[in-house]
Amino acid sequence: MSEHFDVLVAGAGITGLTSAALFARAGARVGLVAALSDSEPPQGDIALRTLAITPASARVLAAAGAWQHVDMARAGTFTAMEVWDAGSAGRLAFAPDALHSGPMGWIVEYQNLVAALHRALARLPVTRIAHQVHTLERGADAAVVLDDGGRLDGRLLIAADGADSRLRTAAGITWEHHAYGQRAIVANVVTREAHGAVARQRFLPSGPLAFLPLADAHACSIVWSCNDELATALEQMDDTAFAAALGEAFEHRLGTIETVSPRAAFPLARAHAERLVAGRLVLVGDSAHLVHPLAGQGLNLGLLDVAALAECVGEVTPGRWPHPAALRRYERWRKSEALAMTLVTDGLERLFAREERPLRWLRGAGLALTARLPAAATWLCERAMGERGDLPRIARRDAAAALVSDPPLGQNSRP
Ligand SMILES: Cc1cc2nc3c(=O)[nH]c(=O)nc-3n(C[C@H](O)[C@H](O)[C@H](O)COP(=O)(O)OP(=O)(O)OC[C@H]3O[C@@H](n4cnc5c(N)ncnc54)[C@H](O)[C@@H]3O)c2cc1C
Repeated sequence: MSEHFDVLVAGAGITGLTSAALFARAGARVGLVAALSDSEPPQGDIALRTLAITPASARVLAAAGAWQHVDMARAGTFTAMEVWDAGSAGRLAFAPDALHSGPMGWIVEYQNLVAALHRALARLPVTRIAHQVHTLERGADAAVVLDDGGRLDGRLLIAADGADSRLRTAAGITWEHHAYGQRAIVANVVTREAHGAVARQRFLPSGPLAFLPLADAHACSIVWSCNDELATALEQMDDTAFAAALGEAFEHRLGTIETVSPRAAFPLARAHAERLVAGRLVLVGDSAHLVHPLAGQGLNLGLLDVAALAECVGEVTPGRWPHPAALRRYERWRKSEALAMTLVTDGLERLFAREERPLRWLRGAGLALTARLPAAATWLCERAMGERGDLPRIARRDAAAALVSDPPLGQNSRP
C-alpha cells in the first residue's frame, strides 16, 4: 500500500526543507522523506560550514517562514565587496547604491539555516518519513520505494537529494560532471584588523581565496579554492604554517592571522542535469546543478529553483495538477538561470587561472575600467545580491515587503 501526498520531497538539506515549508504553507499535503538529522540550532564556536545568503534568498526563506528564526547573533553581514587579482594591478570594490537599504548578504552557518527551517516546519502539517529513498517505483514517475521497502507517492515528486541524487539516476537523467581537480579548504580565522563587513576575494593563479565576514568583527570564514597539490600541502601544514601561508596569499589585507580553526576540504566540480523534469519528478538544488563556490551562489541558485517551482505549478487544485506545461516552464526557466551562473563561475575560474602576460594585462584593464563605470559596478553588485535575472515573485525586492520588511542585520561586533 502506498501513502499519497500532493507533494513528496526527498532530502532534508536546505532546498528540501524549504520546498516542504513553501508547499505546506500554500496548503499542499506534503511528505518529507529524510533520514533523521540534527535539527537543533548551533551552539559554541561558529561552525566551518557557512553559506553566503543573498537578499533574494533571504526572501525565499522568509516566505517559507524560516528567515525570522535564523539566529542573527551568529550571522555575519556584508555591506560591500572587494575583489582583486594576484596577476595584475586590477582591483574592484563595490557596494550597493544609496537606494538599497540593508546588507548585500549574510554569512550564515548551515546548521543555523537548517534549525530555522525545522522551526518553521514544526508549525506546519508536514508528514516526516524518517527513511532514505531507495529508488523510483518501477514504471512510475512520482512514486518512490524506501530503503525499508515502504512505498509513497506524490502528485509532484521533488528530488532535493543532492549532487549524488538517486532519484535523478533512477529517472535515467544524464549528469554532465566535470571535476575541477581542485579542493576548497575552509576554516574560520581571527585577523588583527577588523573586516569592516566587507566580503573579500583575491584571485590567485591556483584559485580564488575568499575572506567572508562573520559576526565577530575580527573573524572571517575563509574559502581557499586551489589545485589538489596545493590543497594537500595546506591540509598537512600545522596551524602556524597554515596561518603564515594564508596571510601571504591574502597579501595580509587584514593584518596578521591570529588564530585558525581546524580545517575541512571539499572537492570541487561543476555539473548539470540534462533535464530537470521527468514526468512529475522535478530536480531542485544540487541534484540539478553544481557550480564552483567562488561566487557563493550554489545554494542561492537552489533556493530560487524552489521558489520558481512553487510559482510555476501554482496552488494545488483537484484534477490535473501539476500541469505538464507548468513543469516544462520550470525546466526552461531554471536551466537557463543555472547555465548563466555556470558560465559566470566557470569563466571567472578559467580567466584568473591564466598567467600569460596579455591576459593578465587585459584582466587588470577590465577590472580598472569596471571600477570607473558606476553602471557596471551597480550591475555587478545587484548580480551578487541576487537582485538581477529572471527572479521568482517571492524573491523580488518589491514583493518581499508583505512577507518581511528588511531582514534584520547581524551583529558584526566583537564580544
Ligand atoms: C566549499 C563550498 C562553499 C560553498 N559556499 C556557498 C555559499 O557561500 N553560498 C551558496 O549559496 N552556496 C554555497 N555552496 C553550495 C551549497 O553548499 C550547496 O549548493 C547547497 O548546500 C545544496 O543544497 P541542497 O539542499 O540542494 O543539497 P544537499 O545539501 O546536498 O542536501 C541533500 C540532502 O538530501 C539527503 N539525501 C541524499 N540522498 C537521499 C535519499 N536517497 N533519500 C533521502 N534523502 C537523501 C542528504 O542527506 C541531504 O540532507 C558551497 C559549496 C561548497 C562546496
